[in-house]
Amino acid sequence: MFNLLRFLWRVNNRFKRWDEDDIKEYQRKQTDKLIKFAVKKSKFYSTFYKGHDLTDFSNLPFMNKQLFMDNFTQLNTVGLTREECINHCLEKEQSRDFSEYYKGYLVGMSTGTSGNRGIEFVSKMEAFLMQLLVFFRFPFPKTRKIHLAFILRVFSPGFGHNGVKIRITYVSPLDTIETIVKKLNTLNPNLLSGPPSVLHVLARAKKDGSLKVSPLLIISYGEVLSSNVKKIIEKDFNCSVVEVYKSSESFIALPCKHGKLHVNEDTTLIEVLDKNHQPVKPGKPGFVVVTDFIKRKTPIIRYKLNDLITIDPQPCSCGSNFRVIKQVHGRADDIILGKKINGDELQFILPDYIRRSIISSSEHIEEYNVIQTSPVNLIIKLQLVTDVKEQIKEEIEKTIQQNLENIFAKHESEVPELEYLYVSLKQDFDKKLRRIQRNFEEDFLN
Ligand SMILES: [Zn+2]
Repeated sequence: MFNLLRFLWRVNNRFKRWDEDDIKEYQRKQTDKLIKFAVKKSKFYSTFYKGHDLTDFSNLPFMNKQLFMDNFTQLNTVGLTREECINHCLEKEQSRDFSEYYKGYLVGMSTGTSGNRGIEFVSKMEAFLMQLLVFFRFPFPKTRKIHLAFILRVFSPGFGHNGVKIRITYVSPLDTIETIVKKLNTLNPNLLSGPPSVLHVLARAKKDGSLKVSPLLIISYGEVLSSNVKKIIEKDFNCSVVEVYKSSESFIALPCKHGKLHVNEDTTLIEVLDKNHQPVKPGKPGFVVVTDFIKRKTPIIRYKLNDLITIDPQPCSCGSNFRVIKQVHGRADDIILGKKINGDELQFILPDYIRRSIISSSEHIEEYNVIQTSPVNLIIKLQLVTDVKEQIKEEIEKTIQQNLENIFAKHESEVPELEYLYVSLKQDFDKKLRRIQRNFEEDFLN
């Protein structure tokens, strides 16, 4: 029988008291159990791991979205087919009612920006455990009742609640900004959560007075939260912004009461690796490989995400030994690749450098978008405040050029050819905002 109080005690105890050895020991036992289970119950894993030493975790082959989707029917342990799950999701997408269970499971679908869709699939129990983890570990502000307005593009299993202490209302970002503002004014939530691009626009509405809500805390997820956007949202709403890091595959990290993003070490094992699949030291960026301890219906083992993160080498002042994610840099295909000055090799440049070099160049820039079309070509789309003189444009271009020259020089790479486009960059709320994009494939992950 599931014991709620024991679960609550465990969730807190692990976070507060476990040292590094406790965490490692627990993760070792969990991965052992998970691998044995997967090989026994999932046809896919029993074939995938054939010939591999199952006790040698760090040498097991990697999973990824393509493998997961291609083999979904053999991979899941409850006998559902990929086709029936996709059909169910497509039907739900028409009605946008994602709350219904399919054969006792919550099935959601993520729309990857590259168009390849991923299935997210959890049982009621798995969703319940994830909810409990959030409710027990998330640093909710002290108030009689939490009312969270939850802005999300696609339904994600594991959320949605209406209880005595917490009420969660889903707000669709598909509406116009005016409708979203109106809805929020009526709901008057004391907690607001959404992707940073939507929160950023709402901050403007708060500033001009059309949005009346005054949340106690704002939660950001789904996209990179850059430090300057965080500052703007915090200033305009006059409250803190914390991040939650979740992918379709796992609930990776939650903030602590000090606002730091801690890995959920007891439900997720993350490996941060370099392009040669060697672990990177804290403080250095690396790719995330995730193993989930909750999901048994679709086992997630050594699943390579497309994300690049840096683990904080400093421990958090809250006292927890759960690792802190210093920064989520973004998807691997948002990483700009420079051509090394000496040789043909490519050097990756974190998108944050590019972001900062654009924003810091002028206060006339309202919105921007950088697209890398080849290692030596960058298109910079700018939306400027109205009535900007030609001379200002020239100054902006000169400053951006200078900033980018510095960055590429630091990375020992050639400065790409820059092309400027002055356009209106109206944001589509239904899509992830990707200010930095690379639109040529380069397998620098492998
Ligand atoms: Zn902390």
